[in-house]
Amino acid sequence: METTKLTAIILKSTPYEERHRIVNALTEDYGKVSALARNAIQSRRFGGTLEIFSASEWLVTIKPHSELWTLNEAHVKRSFEGIRKDFEKLSVASALSEIALRISQPGENSSDLFKLHSNALAIIEETSSSQVLLPIFNAYLVKILHWSGTQPLLQACLLCKTSLNSEMKTIRSIVSEAGWLCQNCLKDRAVSGSKPEEFFDLKLEGVLDAFQALQHPIRKAVESLHGSAKDHQDLARYLLAMLRYHVPGFDRSDLKSIRFFLKENHTPHEGSF
Ligand SMILES: [Zn+2]
Repeated sequence: METTKLTAIILKSTPYEERHRIVNALTEDYGKVSALARNAIQSRRFGGTLEIFSASEWLVTIKPHSELWTLNEAHVKRSFEGIRKDFEKLSVASALSEIALRISQPGENSSDLFKLHSNALAIIEETSSSQVLLPIFNAYLVKILHWSGTQPLLQACLLCKTSLNSEMKTIRSIVSEAGWLCQNCLKDRAVSGSKPEEFFDLKLEGVLDAFQALQHPIRKAVESLHGSAKDHQDLARYLLAMLRYHVPGFDRSDLKSIRFFLKENHTPHEGSF
């Protein structure tokens, strides 16, 4: 057995038997970890460190051949209390925690994901504008898709390679192909009578924000936005469809906590072009 110190952000916290708690957390060096916090429920010895989103310095005992570690001590670094007090912030941050829980692997260096996750929580807590919450979610999702190897191709039409330009008001993004087709290529497809596919019509402004999210750290990516609230709802639906289609572990259940932001009725388009 080995005792070590690490920084962890809580993704999920579950009561275990009557007195204990099992927490799933994201760490920089060890990826996703699960730890048992003994007597956490009655004794308050861990304070607020086991609450979802909390970032703490942990002292843990690592057991060989066991994925469940023992949490000995935890000291809070940032509680992210401000997120838990605000329903909209809570919804977005919960969705991000759910994504991180599914995407992170145990025992794997996850410094990029750790930085993204902690920066996203910080911006969510600090912002005074609820308009920026869905763009934060979208920027996070764009980066996750990129790291999973299914970065949506945004710069140019999939077939003829025409670049994205200001004359295109909307682009038709095809989920299975992780890219979009220009009007000319769409017409050609219609003639060839290709099979039904799921697609989303996205406003150019929303696509520009997604492109910006690929190129910049998340804080900078949401500093100056082009798209409206509606553009970001459409973008979120498209990115979620991308996640479900391309990334293992997301194909079955939906992210419940983000539904609040996507409450308008919407059925994805499906049809031949
Ligand atoms: Zn084209």
